[in-house]
Amino acid sequence: MGTPRILEPTQESHHDPWPLQRAAIQDALSRLGRDPAHRERFAPWMNLALHTPADLAQLPFTTRAHLQVDPPLSDHGVPKSDIVRVHASSGTTGNRTISGYTAADLNLWTRMVARGLAALGVDRESVVYSTLAHGLFTGGFGFHQAATMLGATVIPGGQARSATHVDLIRRLQPTVLFSTPSYALHLADRFSPLPPVTLGVFGAEPWSEADRKRLEALWGMRAHDTYGLSEVIGPGVAFECPYGQGMHINSDHFIPEIIDESGTPLPAGTWGELVLTAPTRHARPLIRYRTGDRTRLDFSPCPCGRTLPRMARIRDRVDNMKVVRGVNVRPTDVAEALAAHPAEFGSWLLEVTRPGALDVLTLVAECEESGRPELARDLQKAVRAALGLTVQVRLETLGTLPHTGGKTHRWKDLRLTKPHRT
Ligand SMILES: [Zn+2]
Repeated sequence: MGTPRILEPTQESHHDPWPLQRAAIQDALSRLGRDPAHRERFAPWMNLALHTPADLAQLPFTTRAHLQVDPPLSDHGVPKSDIVRVHASSGTTGNRTISGYTAADLNLWTRMVARGLAALGVDRESVVYSTLAHGLFTGGFGFHQAATMLGATVIPGGQARSATHVDLIRRLQPTVLFSTPSYALHLADRFSPLPPVTLGVFGAEPWSEADRKRLEALWGMRAHDTYGLSEVIGPGVAFECPYGQGMHINSDHFIPEIIDESGTPLPAGTWGELVLTAPTRHARPLIRYRTGDRTRLDFSPCPCGRTLPRMARIRDRVDNMKVVRGVNVRPTDVAEALAAHPAEFGSWLLEVTRPGALDVLTLVAECEESGRPELARDLQKAVRAALGLTVQVRLETLGTLPHTGGKTHRWKDLRLTKPHRT
């Protein structure tokens, strides 16, 4: 597909990113239009004149389905030997997306995460403890690479047991914690007191302002949100500055739009689905990728002085809410109930079946103490209170469910297939 032009913000482009963005998009369209895997979709757009950001809306969307090609990596437009890393999104078999990175893509990714971490004060004096998994999930490597680039001392706790994390946190006294918000809340709830940590950098799952207050109180930290997704690059798409009033999008590389359900672009400030164009990647640049994440954009000046636009914390997935017995069920509510519970849970999902006339919602959760019926009853009460809906609970031993790495579809909806009995 060829090499993208090197594009970095200059003094002149600082306040109006469009000239930079336009050049990058036109370069990506030209590479896609010449590539055998993409020629059919993108050749008609190779010479599109982009006058204003609104002209982006003429281009076709890219969806998750476009990225699920066989054989994997055949759509990346670079020689296979140029790919130095592969990550995969969470998902069931056949629903996983594969992302390959060239050395230049890894470098871009690292710099984008480092930009966010530096804004929050991570530097060579920082001691960073990470509970994010180093594996197919992009979170672990993404944050690790960037903190290392900034010269911090990094402890990759990864998928160690909670007791191991706690032991190392007590002995090494990190100043920075990388984690999912729910896991950091769980550690603090279960293992208090823990030594205070100055800064918490969170991502990979939706969380609330109430969660932020709890994290800050429990850990004595400033808690900040970040945003990214493996299909686009991993973490590093957007990050909060110290003011914590929305996440600054690295829009020199990830160009945002908000659309409604029909795909029509919405004005700034309106809630809708986030669409991202990532034109500067060497391997598989993305045009108008529908993220499925619901947020809104803010182009007003930030008190920190950065001119990068901001996005609100992800409220939910456009496709993640389901109506069960007339009740809107959001997995984030279940996640909060699980995090608030004193027992320790692993992976979990919501199963909805229709054995007779009525839907039956079942929370299937992995738990160290899965053999205790009183625990299932107690959890049932907590989740019923959170959802306002009766729910069955089935506890499984750890390792029974697929490991999800945080962000995933939590649903197993069997209502339209065969009846299911538990
Ligand atoms: Zn700011």
